[in-house]
Amino acid sequence: MSTQELPKCCVCGQPTTKRCQACAKSGIDLFFCSPEHQKLVWKHHKQVCGPNADPFCPRALTDEEACALLTHAREARTVSLDAFPPSLLSALPRHGAAMQQLGAIAAKGSVTIADLMENYAGGPPGSFETRILPNLRNPVDIPRRSRYTGLTKARSFLLQHLEGFVGGTGDVYVHTIWAQVARLGAFAGGWLGTADNDAEMRLLSQINHHLLILVTLARIKHADDSAIPDAWILRSFEHVVDLHADIKPFESIQALHYMTNHYRSRTATLADRSYIAVPKPGGRGPTLRYPD
Ligand SMILES: [Zn+2]
Ligand SMILES: [Zn+2]
Repeated sequence: MSTQELPKCCVCGQPTTKRCQACAKSGIDLFFCSPEHQKLVWKHHKQVCGPNADPFCPRALTDEEACALLTHAREARTVSLDAFPPSLLSALPRHGAAMQQLGAIAAKGSVTIADLMENYAGGPPGSFETRILPNLRNPVDIPRRSRYTGLTKARSFLLQHLEGFVGGTGDVYVHTIWAQVARLGAFAGGWLGTADNDAEMRLLSQINHHLLILVTLARIKHADDSAIPDAWILRSFEHVVDLHADIKPFESIQALHYMTNHYRSRTATLADRSYIAVPKPGGRGPTLRYPD
């Protein structure tokens, strides 16, 4: 959050100083203008509220997710550097973990979900099915940060696989809400590079809370268009972009567009609206605002 703007309700964008008290105790700032707006997103927020707020501690894999992961874990997906043109790579932060991963994948030519997870966990071939997946279905003994990273990677790799890796038709209304937050949160994690200290993990947790609220609002609106005004989605997304710029200022307008396209392609309200790039209040580099 910019230091030069008043806190805003993470549901409707109205300035407010009221926040979720349980999350505040964990160092996470989530402002709600009213009990009604807190209740609107409570169904999902309650699972990551308070002690689960930082590190952001999503729910264990659902049966549906575990089944899909097992089904697709060993399917080779062909990938090529052609999907990542130099103009795109140069627009992105050079040391992001996501970019290193993309480079390794592209060099090998093909990849499986199990390869990626065994590589991440440092496990031998075959350990995805025997150890990693069972742990993610019942992660009570796993430290919160590892739980966040493991679940985020598993869900994100699954969605990438299902959507054909790049240029997929995925939108935020399908699969579990946790898978969608993981997919978007993995992008934020790549933007950060490494979340290897408490301050960086807190930034990542803060972004994940806002992603969960953004996807929650988008799904409510998808089910009933009149339930959520467009402006709430736009304000919520502006907040997410500002948080990305807090992690690492966008180096160029192109880098901003690349990041926003990742979200806009997945959410109808965002895809339908055009934004303007503006200097980030109190910060370096650009961010975006939607004209009212
Ligand atoms: Zn509100
Ligand atoms: Zn909370």
